[in-house]
Parts: sequence; structure tokens; C-alpha cells
Amino acid sequence: MKDFGEVLENIDLKNYNTYGISVKAKYLVKPYNKVSLIKLIKYLDTNKIKWYLLGGGSNVILPDEYFDGVIINLSNLTAYEVTGDEIYAEAGIYLTTLIDKMLDDGYTNYGVLKGIPGQLGGAIVGNAGAYGINIFDYLNSVFIIDENYEIKEIKKEKIDYDYRWTEFKNKKIVIVAAKIKGVKGDVALIKEEISKNFIKRKNTQPLEYKNAGSVFANPPGLAAGYLIEHSGLKNISVGGAKVSEKHANFIINYNNATSHDIINLIEIIKKEVKEKFKVELKLEQVIVKW
Ligand SMILES: Cc1cc2nc3c(=O)[nH]c(=O)nc-3n(C[C@H](O)[C@H](O)[C@H](O)COP(=O)(O)OP(=O)(O)OC[C@H]3O[C@@H](n4cnc5c(N)ncnc54)[C@H](O)[C@@H]3O)c2cc1C
Repeated sequence: MKDFGEVLENIDLKNYNTYGISVKAKYLVKPYNKVSLIKLIKYLDTNKIKWYLLGGGSNVILPDEYFDGVIINLSNLTAYEVTGDEIYAEAGIYLTTLIDKMLDDGYTNYGVLKGIPGQLGGAIVGNAGAYGINIFDYLNSVFIIDENYEIKEIKKEKIDYDYRWTEFKNKKIVIVAAKIKGVKGDVALIKEEISKNFIKRKNTQPLEYKNAGSVFANPPGLAAGYLIEHSGLKNISVGGAKVSEKHANFIINYNNATSHDIINLIEIIKKEVKEKFKVELKLEQVIVKW
């Protein structure tokens, strides 16, 4: 595998997922570029070796069980190129870096997404968004690896997506890059808004603890946090996982939480909210199965 990328062996993934779940994988490979990524996937599939693509790990609940396979990490796929008012960016670029580069070029349209951790690929999979803007609002197309191990461009119109959901979610697919529409605006103004949003996030989200953002998507017209809080669930815990006191739609890892703790807590929340409000909460985070 060394031909395809940097290889780390017997690696604890706790620094690769924002919940900080400690679980080991046999290998973690960082492909050198998109060509080596394709070769790696083909090699793994041909040799029937299990693989899992992890982005920034900020929306996943990793299993507690050892992974006898390869974690693919796209930290070397970070290209950013502008042609006309269209940006081509590779999937491993962190959203924060992408937005900073766009702002340097005068494009303000993704500005308010700053503060969402994670990479462009992960943001596309879950149609990440904040303050009324979603990634898909300005996507032109997505590049994936197809069944023939070739890069295929899919226009946005051909992709099924919704609020915090896309057809890519929970599918074994590799997003390599995307084309984004750049819209110019008042950079100073958006930077002010970003600073204000950072303060808002700090005041309302438990950023001092390990977490993976909102646990549940907001049901139409409702706030998941409100439903959880008013079901009396703030601060309840299972093992090392706890419903945040600051924001009830966040589960925090306050004491070496396992995947098992987090998933059990999720089940309790779903059950209680259903009983109290007759609302079926839908998970925004991804429960990973190796
Ligand atoms: C403090 C905090 C605040 C947050 N705030 C927000 C917010 O305001 N709005 C919001 O929408 N989200 C928010 N999130 C959640 C999370 O940051 C986003 O969902 C983010 O887009 C996930 O990206 P990631 O790279 O970390 O994906 P990961 O968690 O690594 O992966 C998520 C899923 O996408 C898949 N995936 C990742 N990259 C690729 C790829 N290149 N190709 C194919 N599949 C891939 C993974 O296999 C996994 O199934 C927050 C999280 C935290 C911790």
C-alpha cells in the first residue's frame, strides 16, 4: 500500500474523530493524490480488504470494535483552483480552509459555514449547513469514483439531496472533488458576521467537550434541542456520554465514552421524545459499521 500513500499501522482513531472514541484500525492510509486514491481503492477491492473513508470525523460515531481494514484519509487531497467564478476543490480540504481561500478571492457565499468542522467531502455527504446556507446551495457538480474506478462528474441536478441529507449518506462512495459556484460579496461584512457567529457558537454549543455536532436533524418546524430539553433529558448520561447542559441536541464525551454509551443514550432520547411529543427524531450523525 506504500505505493499509494503514507501508511500508518495499528492506529488509534481517537484523534481522527471529534467524539474522541478510542478504537484501533489495522491501517490508516493517506493517498498522495487522486490518482493514488483510485489505485488504492482498486487494490483494496480486488484483494477484498475492507476500507472506510473518514473525513474530518466530525459527524461520525465510530464502532468500539477493532477495524481489521484500512481507514482512508484524504488529508493530501486539498487542491483549490479558480476558473472564472467557479472553484474546483478536492474533497479533503477542510471547510475552514476552503472558506478562507474563497474569501481571499472575494467569494463570500460560503462564509457563514465557517465554524463547521470537517472536510468538503463530509460536508457534501451530509449537505452540511448553518445560518440558512447549505453546501448544496452553491455546488455545481461532484466528482466521484465510479464502478470502473474512473472519476465521474455528476451535476448537482442529478443528485438527490435534502436538509442534512443526500443520496450519498450511509453509502459506500468516494467523493474526490467538487465544483462550487463562487459569488462575490462584501468580504469585510461577512468576516464580521463570521466573528459574531463564532461567539454565538461558543455561547450555545459545548465546544469545551468532545462532540460531533447536532445529534439529530431538526424535524420540520421544530428544534430537536427543544424537544430533548423539554423531555427532561438535559444532563442525563450513559457511561461516559452525556446530553449537554448547554445544548440538548449535543451529546458530549465527558469521560472516555464508548460508541456503545453514545448509541444507548441516543436510543433513550428517541424513545422519550417520541413518548412525550410523538415526534420521531432522525439521526444527523452517522453510526459507522465496519
Ligand atoms: C462542534 C461541531 C459543530 C458542528 N456544526 C455543524 C453545523 O453547524 N452544521 C452542520 O451541518 N454540521 C455541523 N457539524 C457536523 C459536521 O461537522 C459536519 O456534518 C461535517 O460536514 C462532517 O464532515 P467530516 O469531514 O467531518 O465528515 P465525517 O464525519 O468524517 O464523515 C461523515 C460521513 O461522510 C463520509 N465521508 C466523508 N468524506 C467523504 C468523501 N470524501 N467521500 C465519501 N464519503 C465521505 C464518511 O464516510 C461518513 O459516512 C458540527 C460538528 C461539530 C463537532
